[in-house]
Amino acid sequence: MDLIYRYDPFQPLVPKSIPDSAAAIQSLTQGNARFVEIVHRMQQSTLGVRSNEPLIIPVSPMSLGLPLMSGMAQKQAPYALVLSCSDARAPTEAIFDQSFNDLFVVRIAGNVLGTECLGSIDYAVRNLGESLKLVVVMGHSGCGAVTAAVDAYLAPKHFIDIAFTHSLRSLIDRIQIAVRGAAKSLRELGGANVEVSPGYRESLIEAAVYLNSAVTAFDLQREIRALGNTTLSIVYGVYDLTSLCVRALPEDRARPAAPHSGFGEAPNSADDFVALGVKLAECLLGKGDPGVSGDW
Ligand SMILES: [Zn+2]
Repeated sequence: MDLIYRYDPFQPLVPKSIPDSAAAIQSLTQGNARFVEIVHRMQQSTLGVRSNEPLIIPVSPMSLGLPLMSGMAQKQAPYALVLSCSDARAPTEAIFDQSFNDLFVVRIAGNVLGTECLGSIDYAVRNLGESLKLVVVMGHSGCGAVTAAVDAYLAPKHFIDIAFTHSLRSLIDRIQIAVRGAAKSLRELGGANVEVSPGYRESLIEAAVYLNSAVTAFDLQREIRALGNTTLSIVYGVYDLTSLCVRALPEDRARPAAPHSGFGEAPNSADDFVALGVKLAECLLGKGDPGVSGDW
């Protein structure tokens, strides 16, 4: 398989244009689809399925967000701010196939909202508002920080072993609200016995990953509005380590062929969280209404 990044200096240089949040979401969604396509082609090639069609990606210094000439420096102008996890398997720019100067990225384990993270976001919202059109909170499946929070919830007597230090507790404590909300939703839809059913811990981790991203988006939306910014769109999504897609809901176990992709809007109220909890439980317990679209 040939993967070719091609720069033709005779082609016109067209600057990237992201005028609003819809264009920002489209750019990230299309970038994630390109990333999935590249990895899928490599996986097919590994299996011996040969493709004679090279995958050609046109690039230029401008499309890469790099200076056109030596001696120049770019003005910082990201179109999206992404708060994501530090996990080495989830590099933000690669997942969205984005270049230099496209994304302002804040990464912290569990994509929680600590004071220093908020300071970075505050800086970006105040100083990069001219180019910034979207804020994304992105969790990922199999998150170690969320897993630790779930294990601390399921086995409270081991909490001291899981979160012995002040710094670890500050991470895990911030995720507890998502874990408890996910557990409540799974119990309400699956009944009291759901907690002793096979795969319960894994379902709780997955539900908590989505809910934790939504909780952070909710908190972040309030903080950004408090700064006086009433227009910036705030969404959340989860990067699935298996499918490589960023999605607003997990795979519906009753309808695995109907993937949910894209982002969810930041919740605005307690009712929004309840509705999201129900949808997560429906997907993970395979009890969704087949006539209802999964996108949220
Ligand atoms: Zn993580």
